[in-house]
Amino acid sequence: MNIRYEVQKSDILGRYLVAAKDLKAGETIFSDEPFVLGPNSDTSLLCFNCYLPLISKFVVCKNCAVAPICPGEGCPEPRHRNWHNTKECDFFRNLKLTKGLHPMTMVQNVGSLLVLRAVLKKEADPKAWEEFMQLETHLEERRGSAIWEFYDSTDKFIKSLGLLDDVQGENLVQQICAAIDVNSFEVRGPLIPAIGCSEILRGVYLKAALLAHDCTANTHMSINDNNIMVCHASVDIKKGDIIYYNYTDPLKGTAIRQQHLLIGKYFKCNCSRCSDNTEKGTYMSSVICTECKTGFVSGNDEIWTCNICKKQFTNIEINDKVKSCSDKFGLINTKDDKELEEYIRSVSPILAPNHYLLIDAKQRLAGVLRDTINREPRPTKKLMRRKMELCKELLPVIEALCPGISRTKAVTLYELHAAQIQLARKLFDSREINATAYMDELIVAEKYLKSSLEMLFIEPGNSPEGELCAKALEEYRALKSTMANVLDAIHAEGKIYITAAEKNDSGLQNGN
Ligand SMILES: [Zn+2]
Ligand SMILES: [Zn+2]
Ligand SMILES: [Zn+2]
Ligand SMILES: [Zn+2]
Repeated sequence: MNIRYEVQKSDILGRYLVAAKDLKAGETIFSDEPFVLGPNSDTSLLCFNCYLPLISKFVVCKNCAVAPICPGEGCPEPRHRNWHNTKECDFFRNLKLTKGLHPMTMVQNVGSLLVLRAVLKKEADPKAWEEFMQLETHLEERRGSAIWEFYDSTDKFIKSLGLLDDVQGENLVQQICAAIDVNSFEVRGPLIPAIGCSEILRGVYLKAALLAHDCTANTHMSINDNNIMVCHASVDIKKGDIIYYNYTDPLKGTAIRQQHLLIGKYFKCNCSRCSDNTEKGTYMSSVICTECKTGFVSGNDEIWTCNICKKQFTNIEINDKVKSCSDKFGLINTKDDKELEEYIRSVSPILAPNHYLLIDAKQRLAGVLRDTINREPRPTKKLMRRKMELCKELLPVIEALCPGISRTKAVTLYELHAAQIQLARKLFDSREINATAYMDELIVAEKYLKSSLEMLFIEPGNSPEGELCAKALEEYRALKSTMANVLDAIHAEGKIYITAAEKNDSGLQNGN
């Protein structure tokens, strides 16, 4: 088998993965089964076997009489796996018989299910258990903190069941909870038919847990409906390079990303983006200078400086300003296009144009406009133009911060292509543009759609992005057929179609 990565170890990074050969963007680096998968502590009542919510009735598994399970005929098909498997069922049954484990107690301690499942691996898969016990936990930083206290109940619950008594070591339950917290990924549960969304679960993947963090990842992660994680290279990676995953949201500013990493992962990121006050030239955390009115003021925990007039500002001054914009964002209805437009208009004189608050507002606005355009029988050209404008403003920022294959980029390109086609069709139908101009527009849309498809192709078929890929592919075929028809119409008029690029080329030659 073709080895694509190897595990290395350093004092700073702990264990981490490096490329064992040159990897091309889009190439699979590894796929990984979850070591454990299960609900969060605040998840509502759900089936332990398939993770669908249990709304109407509380039914427990017939064999163990502990695990809540789908009523009636059992879990609906298609189901890729029984998460409440025979081993777990017998384990619960035994706990019920020997320790009086009551189903209500289990439900109240739903957050401990992941811990129980991890403990079960000790016997079922000793090698994986050993790997799991080596994962980064930052146990010392957690000791005595609120999170430590939070897991006190889990600790008591597990001990009340007489588990782990045979294992050496102090604070084992806290260690398991920490290993899950620090290393787990959010995993989408199965689609709930009535509401069209899913529960958010947590899964620990032992290979992915070894990925080092960088705020500019070189990987793209996807988890399919079978909960298998696939890690692709998002850009070309050279042999020996560290394989990075970004554990934070790349479209948030440095202060927010660092805080997230500090709280969840217990480290301060020093990556190239975090050390660059301009955040790769996007000025994502910057504000507009009140002195010269044109420069962008960027900085860090201490001092902030205008890139044009060099005036300096304190951290407090800038924070107050950003906080008032952020508070304002918290108060608006982000599903209302007028409120979003008003918000963008009101903070634009304060924040740099690609500030993360503006990027957030623009992304949401593009989504609201998409829904309106798709819903209304006669959407206006203005809506379509605005949606295109927003996508075009977002794309260079996404490209700078998420180079290579990116889900957000793929979706934004798809949305840009859709608006471009809708607008062109409307203009052509109302005879505002001729067939040649229509064709020019369709060629541009085709370019966006192709770039989007190139990225969507690696998404698993049974995921929302995979479904978008199938839809995009169908639209690509439809677009090709529309283009053929438009071309026929141009020829029928006795004209020859010359692409915009060809026109430019000939223009250049004439100029020479
Ligand atoms: Zn079920
Ligand atoms: Zn059972
Ligand atoms: Zn960073
Ligand atoms: Zn200035």
